[in-house]
Amino acid sequence: MNYQKYIPDEFTMCQFGKKLMQTITQIKSEKGITVYLQGDLGAGKTTLSRGMIQGLGHAGNVKSPTYTLVEEYHLTEKDIYHFDLYRLSDPEELEFMGIRDYFNARSICLIEWAEKGQGILPEPDLIIHINYFDDARNIELQPISEKGHLIIKQLT
Ligand code: ADP
Ligand code: MG
Repeated sequence: MNYQKYIPDEFTMCQFGKKLMQTITQIKSEKGITVYLQGDLGAGKTTLSRGMIQGLGHAGNVKSPTYTLVEEYHLTEKDIYHFDLYRLSDPEELEFMGIRDYFNARSICLIEWAEKGQGILPEPDLIIHINYFDDARNIELQPISEKGHLIIKQLT
């Protein structure tokens, strides 16, 4: 079952990100956790990621990986890799980046525009769909793996 939530404003989006991250870190996983974030430009994928990253204890800035493709956060318990693949011209470029090394037991990978890396990126545990209208957002969490189902079970 998908999990849906109405998000009235940006603050609520960040708060939800924090709560979601706390839930994710409770799940044990030898391969880490992979989350795809889907939604149009400006939907709030980076905003939600910011809430998630700060929820794990990162106190500084969270900048969009638009130009760098990936931003890394090495925290006490976990490593977060925040990708934005919008500018990726060919999924093969991910091989040159050494994409496989990003996915391990310590890692949480948050991926915007995952469709650009189709065929090379691993399957996600969870897909977050964000739809928007003015300042309000509607988010829907779609579990893909067993771990994804566990995350949603913990949230509800
Ligand atoms: P994306 O990464 O999907 O392109 P961003 O997170 O960069 O989107 O941008 C979302 C924009 O929408 C930000 O400027 C943010 O301030 C604004 N915003 C307004 N309301 C919300 C909300 N409820 N949730 C998230 N962002 C919101
Ligand atoms: Mg973004």
